[in-house]
Amino acid sequence: MQGWRGSPIPSPAGAVTSTSRPERSLPRRCVLSIADQLAIPRQHRPRPCRTKAILDALTGDDRKAVKAALEGTDFHSTQIADVLTQAGHQISDQTINRHRQGKCSCGHR
Ligand SMILES: [Zn+2]
Repeated sequence: MQGWRGSPIPSPAGAVTSTSRPERSLPRRCVLSIADQLAIPRQHRPRPCRTKAILDALTGDDRKAVKAALEGTDFHSTQIADVLTQAGHQISDQTINRHRQGKCSCGHR
């Protein structure tokens, strides 16, 4: 206790002073920080591909029909992309192709 001058303000142990975070105009849509995202290898990123996101957004017969079309060979990816885009789910045939080939981020096979 030599040379120690007790501070007049009692600071509780464990309290960090950097609590105030300047909020910029950053859109709050991603929970992960940049450091977190870069720490995860590309193929293990949790973000699903657009094809899967649209599939997840669909329900009932629509979902079944799209799933069947994706897994089958009756429809070209271009046709599926057209149908989905016209229904308000904009997607490119390339994105669908990648999903069908298992090269997308969701790792669908
Ligand atoms: Zn996918």
